[in-house]
Amino acid sequence: MKIEVAKRAGFCFGVKRAVKLAYETAAKSKQAVCTLGPIIHNPQVVKDLEGWGVKVIEKPSRVKKCILIIRSHGVHPKVLQQLKAKKGLSIIDATCPFVTKAQNAAACLRDEGRQVIIIGEKEHPEVIALKGYAGRDSVVFNHNAIKVGPRIGVLAQTTLSTDDFVKALMYLGSKTNDIHLINTICRATQVRQQDTMQLAKRSDLMIVVGGRNSANTSRLAEMCRKVGKPTYHVETEDELKAKWFSKASLVGVTAGASTPDALVRKVVKRIRDITAKKEKQEKVIKVQKVQ
Ligand code: SF4
Repeated sequence: MKIEVAKRAGFCFGVKRAVKLAYETAAKSKQAVCTLGPIIHNPQVVKDLEGWGVKVIEKPSRVKKCILIIRSHGVHPKVLQQLKAKKGLSIIDATCPFVTKAQNAAACLRDEGRQVIIIGEKEHPEVIALKGYAGRDSVVFNHNAIKVGPRIGVLAQTTLSTDDFVKALMYLGSKTNDIHLINTICRATQVRQQDTMQLAKRSDLMIVVGGRNSANTSRLAEMCRKVGKPTYHVETEDELKAKWFSKASLVGVTAGASTPDALVRKVVKRIRDITAKKEKQEKVIKVQKVQ
């Protein structure tokens, strides 16, 4: 049995940068270090950072005197304003530059006097923050029926799949002719999706590694299932089951942009161990039959 890892899988530039900032700050700071919400959607990394003293604070109102790291998803401008007004708080902004670009695009469309439509998940922190730049009449679209104004501006959550973006545009195009579209899907997301799709088509089964709370990881799993391949989304190697690999010749492994490379390596190693054990058992059975 062969194992192949997608060409581009795991940590993207923005996540790498945010995580590096968190570890560096924790290592050199004497003050308490906190993040507003989990720094990335990967429970294993968040837990490891906790060991370094980096605390997750969910609500801005609970933030006290500390060094506060804004995660790669960014934050609503009003929240940022409130935080900046707090005494004794140092803010390190780890918002991914591509997310900042999407926020600027939202503000630009709003300033053109358009109703801004954000294609993405309403509850995702990046989308919540984006909405703060998109104006009061902005709407989050996620395959739901919506009413739109005559002039709209359209952009996407950075981790949206290109397919979903195209589908949403077809729907919105049926509502109005006056659309200013800005494609804010991040390239790191696109290449991970393309590589995963190519690998999924060749493989007998797919293992997708990453946080279950990670939108881009779940999307990769969804895409693999759509091409009809048995797909298992795991957070760590301990979730792997030997029976999954019984009939596979080629196992594809991919990972979301918030999955550390070390975790992917551990998963690959465990699959190797599982299959090596299975092959050894099969050899023993064959020898016994011959005898
Ligand atoms: S997926 Fe793209 S936008 Fe999101 S953090 Fe990574 S590089 Fe930035």
